Amino acid sequence: MTRTIPPEPCYQPPSFAINVLHVLEEHGFEAWIVGGWVRDALINLPSHDVDITTSARCEQSAKVMRDAGFVVQETGTKHGTITVISGGHAVEVTTFRVDGNYSDHRHPDEVRFVDSVEEDLGRRDFTVNAMAYHPERGLLDPFGGRQDLQDKLIRAVGDPAKRFAEDALRVMRAVRFACRMGFEVESATHEALVEAAPGLADVAQERIGKELNGIVASGRAGWALRHETDVMCAAVPEFVPMRGFDQRSTWHSYDVMEHTARVCNAVEAFTAGVAPLELRWAALLHDVGKPACFVLDDRGRGHFYGHPVAGAEMAEWMMQRMGLPGPLIEGAVALVRYHDHVVRPTARSMRRTLAVMEEAVPGRALQLSYELMDIKRADAVSKQLKCASYAIDLDQMDAILREEQRGDMVLRVTDLAISGKDVIDFMGIEPGPMVGMVLSRLLAAVVDNEVENTREALFDELMIQAQELD
Ligand code: ATP
Ligand code: MG
Repeated sequence: MTRTIPPEPCYQPPSFAINVLHVLEEHGFEAWIVGGWVRDALINLPSHDVDITTSARCEQSAKVMRDAGFVVQETGTKHGTITVISGGHAVEVTTFRVDGNYSDHRHPDEVRFVDSVEEDLGRRDFTVNAMAYHPERGLLDPFGGRQDLQDKLIRAVGDPAKRFAEDALRVMRAVRFACRMGFEVESATHEALVEAAPGLADVAQERIGKELNGIVASGRAGWALRHETDVMCAAVPEFVPMRGFDQRSTWHSYDVMEHTARVCNAVEAFTAGVAPLELRWAALLHDVGKPACFVLDDRGRGHFYGHPVAGAEMAEWMMQRMGLPGPLIEGAVALVRYHDHVVRPTARSMRRTLAVMEEAVPGRALQLSYELMDIKRADAVSKQLKCASYAIDLDQMDAILREEQRGDMVLRVTDLAISGKDVIDFMGIEPGPMVGMVLSRLLAAVVDNEVENTREALFDELMIQAQELD
């Protein structure tokens, strides 16, 4: 399907940005809206931060903006950037510049301010990011970014090998933009990506994490694993042994990497493309522990005993190393840990699952249990044909979970109809660990549907437990 990208953005820049641009121009400086806003507005993606590029030096733009009554923060004057607060929004205003050498492959050693906007556009990473727009002068597109938007291509500005050698993070940015927009990487740019990927070893983990999170959040991590395997492996060394790893198992038709890509894609299919971020991360990392846990039995068949727990430990370490947020890590790690947890389409099994997830991440049992069903379903259809029918059992489990959700769910000891104090009084014991132990046993009995969650039934059960203890 071809589509035509209009010669102008699909919508006009917001007035808070135009106001900043006009103040600069009223004082004789040249100013343009640039980068992500222009790219997204041309393909009708709304609400992007607005960046402005200008001929004014930082001191000059700061002065004229302050004189016009705007709050100015001197956020990056070394690189020519100030932040102007306009109508409650932060607008970054950066002087036309080109970057000097990148001896650390990440930060320019120095920047050089220049007089022409075209030169400034030439230092930008990809053609689709190297366009400028002005409400009166229109679109400035010296590198064919509009055409590449139309052709759905991520193409480096200038010599791709040189551009990736300057800044290795661009390797990840290329993949992230391709994922986010559903584009391909243009072939020369792709070749250069593969060449430059090892340079990611010098990039800070937090930066890798931010870009990888962007890839995962796009829902296209499966595409990235398949089409940009070298980049993904360079970014995350734990992926290297997954590549081509023959599982030697009748339960698996694919190697670990291809299976993982399929699971990433399947969670999107099962959630209509709106999978929660922790589920997406879990899909990407669910089998990361497999290569290390591989054993061959004497019939030559592969097994991966303990890989969910090993994988959960690895996932936690990897996500922490990449500086990802704690709650995201907790959710994803719980899903990795329990992705092979045995579940059956019975109320008892679902209650146990809820209790297990509650223990893993307190307060998140229900959401995580649904996500667990999703990852299991995705896993089932990505192994071998004979495993796929398990997805139907999982649909039944979803239905049972919904039933449970309608009732009074008992997930933790505090949901029991009796309290620790009741236990102390009834059994005549001292406060201490014994009380917690008794309550946990009561909880297990209620979860297993052996005892009703009423005071009467629980006191009866306590009586039995007290006799057992005697
Ligand atoms: P988004 O914010 O949606 O990820 P963006 O295009 O706004 O996309 P930013 O990282 O905010 O990306 O950068 C703004 C602009 O600065 C980019 O559009 C690009 O022109 C330029 N840019 C950013 N990072 C780099 C880089 N590492 N190398 C070259 N140019 C860059
Ligand atoms: Mg941006």
